[in-house]
Amino acid sequence: MAKPFLGLAATLTVLLSVSLGACGDSSESTADNGKKTVLTTFTVIADMASEVAGDRVNVASITKPGSEIHGYEPTPSDLKRAADADLILENGLGLERWFEQFIDRSGAPKATLTDGIDAIPIAGDSEYAGKPNPHAWMSTKNAEIYVENIYKALAKLDPAGEPEFRANADAYKKELRAVGEEVLADVKDLPENQRALVTCEGAFSYVARDLGLTEKYLWPVNAEQEGTPQQIAATVQFVRDRKVPGVFCESTVSPEAMKQVAKEAGSTFAGTLYVDSLSKADGPVPTYLELLRRDAQTIAAGLGAGGQS
Ligand SMILES: [Zn+2]
Repeated sequence: MAKPFLGLAATLTVLLSVSLGACGDSSESTADNGKKTVLTTFTVIADMASEVAGDRVNVASITKPGSEIHGYEPTPSDLKRAADADLILENGLGLERWFEQFIDRSGAPKATLTDGIDAIPIAGDSEYAGKPNPHAWMSTKNAEIYVENIYKALAKLDPAGEPEFRANADAYKKELRAVGEEVLADVKDLPENQRALVTCEGAFSYVARDLGLTEKYLWPVNAEQEGTPQQIAATVQFVRDRKVPGVFCESTVSPEAMKQVAKEAGSTFAGTLYVDSLSKADGPVPTYLELLRRDAQTIAAGLGAGGQS
């Protein structure tokens, strides 16, 4: 697995050197409107950063809405954007292995938004077992730590904007707390056998913990092993044993394996959850807060409906 990645890395290093050589002018580090540019690795943290930054700073995401973010392959233009950025915000916890060495080489300061978070280790016996689950943003409590880390990084980048960043961060944290309570209320009346969250990727460990649900997934992290017969059989068993009324899959991967689970286990495929990426502005989850709300409603409807036993 490491070999093709290294091959790609070597190719991209050459491309990065070329693009740096062609555009080494330091005046490129600010965008046309004179504002500093903050680059994030995916759309969810770009949205959080925009909330804290307000209008003072340009915020952009390397990966686009709807992208698969675990195995993303950076393009030469991504690497140029990283080299030109004034600050890079990454999730950390192993999520951006595809980008780490380029972030390090870009010369831009970097902040890791999961610094200070208690990560949940990945369960099971796969190659990922014991590693930190990277999807820490799915807990609103953790999101408050992300916001503080964003605030600190922005205040360092643009000290004159500090009071504005502080006010924006505090207002956003208030909203995060309100949405945290809202999603908890959505699922609080589910009976015991309906308190199981069955998904494709093991991306909901933080959600399951916060909402008091038992988590079961087909595969731990989006990678090569998605929906193997063993993964399907184990999940079917779980769904049958617990009589789980509805199962889910995430927007950035194929739902076919989970649809098969639903069929074999006599359950229902109860919808798409959003975790690794926001949708476009006119889609169902254009913001992080909308993503949290939409997931909680989908989960509550999927586990509540048809689950009378
Ligand atoms: Zn994921």
